[in-house]
Amino acid sequence: MPTASSGLSRRPARSRNSKLQPYLTKSRYLEGVQCRKRLWLGWHAADLARGPDETLQALFEAGREVGAAARLLFPGGTLVTEPPWAHAEAVTRTRDLMDDADVPAIFEGAFEWKGVRIRVDVLERLSGGAWGLLEVKASTRLKQVHVDDVSVQRFVLEGSGVSVSSVDLLHVDRDYARGDNGIDWPAFFQRTDLTAESAARLEQVPDVVEDLRRILGGEVMPDILPGRHCSDPYDCEFWDHCTRQMPDDWVFYLPGLTGDRLRALQEHGIECIPHVPEDFPLSATQARVCKVHRSGERYVSAGLASALGGLGPPAFYLDFETLGPAIPLYPGTRPYQAVPFQWSLHHVDSAGELTHREFLADGRGDPRRLFADGLIDALSGTAGPILVYSSFERTQLRALAELYPDLAEPIRALVDRLRDLAPVVRANLYDPAFQGSFSLKAVAPALAPCVTFDNLDRIAEGSAASSAMSRISRGSVDAAEEARLRTALLAYCQRDTLALVELHRVMIEAARR
Ligand code: SF4
Repeated sequence: MPTASSGLSRRPARSRNSKLQPYLTKSRYLEGVQCRKRLWLGWHAADLARGPDETLQALFEAGREVGAAARLLFPGGTLVTEPPWAHAEAVTRTRDLMDDADVPAIFEGAFEWKGVRIRVDVLERLSGGAWGLLEVKASTRLKQVHVDDVSVQRFVLEGSGVSVSSVDLLHVDRDYARGDNGIDWPAFFQRTDLTAESAARLEQVPDVVEDLRRILGGEVMPDILPGRHCSDPYDCEFWDHCTRQMPDDWVFYLPGLTGDRLRALQEHGIECIPHVPEDFPLSATQARVCKVHRSGERYVSAGLASALGGLGPPAFYLDFETLGPAIPLYPGTRPYQAVPFQWSLHHVDSAGELTHREFLADGRGDPRRLFADGLIDALSGTAGPILVYSSFERTQLRALAELYPDLAEPIRALVDRLRDLAPVVRANLYDPAFQGSFSLKAVAPALAPCVTFDNLDRIAEGSAASSAMSRISRGSVDAAEEARLRTALLAYCQRDTLALVELHRVMIEAARR
């Protein structure tokens, strides 16, 4: 198990790249800035990385689509098609294109300096022999990692003798709404000038490059403990490996514990929640979690029974799935706007009988009207609470009421019946098996052991459901794959509402004890 030090430990046995001379790329540079251990593992023990799941693949796909669309803004631009493993050829091809004054922009231009290889999204020819560096991102806002991103590119370009007079981030404008006739690409993208920021950050780049190259070429792995940095700015693919020996009551699972507080505990060698000192500054929730772990007994507040008052059964249990692609699919929708495409509705009547209804869009157009009509129809003539497990359904229903004024009244009636179980759990229950999370996926299996999300096929979380429907809606899957995805979507959403039914049942039982 890793110890609370920042020293070095021996490398693992597996080493995929051991015969190659290590080199940095822009991606490795950013990985190294996030975590030196991630950089080292990525070269020396890449086999230990978790493979990309459905969600990550969809993110890559979105990035590729946005990158390709950005090229439309530079008519006459030329793509360097040489693959990454033909880097020397790509560099030569880029030089040839730079020498051709008729080429106004180069896409994926290749450069190398001080052992750092890069491919530049867009290099725009400007007047006086100068060039503009443009980094394309599918995100809607500037992040600090983007400054690191363009700074290392600028370092390589200027080291290679390229005169860089402007540096821009070309990203998605979150306020853009798709028109009736498709995407207006110049309006879809927004430029953020990073010329000054990259110049300031550039001063640090040579030292960072030197340090990262030293680590990459070294035989020992940096001994860095996992913490909040593992998902900031990106989820690290070595998380499962780095945390494989962490205890179930790891201090990381204290809800809302900041990175600084986590480090403070780690620096004192405190790994398990029961060992957190009594005088360590904690929020009320964190203090309660510590108490639960020390005693080993589930926390059930005396106020749970009254918090459940009026929530049934009889009750309905509702869950929505939405898609939110970077490039909006439907007229009037914006990048990443949540578009509901699926609902699952369970009902428990006064005799305890369970029934189920559901809706899943066919993926052949804007699903929102059919989604809303179907839900109103399913709940027409009914009364009583509709239980959900977040404020998400409320937000989506309000958006639908605004979009369809003729449905505003029945939708508002549904909104008035919504009751959110999540804050009831957060305020009144804690079990060590929550592992610091109050999500339905953590809470329901912990309190109701018959609930599991582990045996679902391919889709076991909302982001995967969103990715699946995006692929169906864009027509990027064949009929057999679409059928598999639709089966998986139906199973997943139904499982969510069934989990809610079970969670409610065990909460009622706990309140009676
Ligand atoms: S999981 Fe965390 S500690 Fe481990 S390599 Fe990744 S970022 Fe570094």
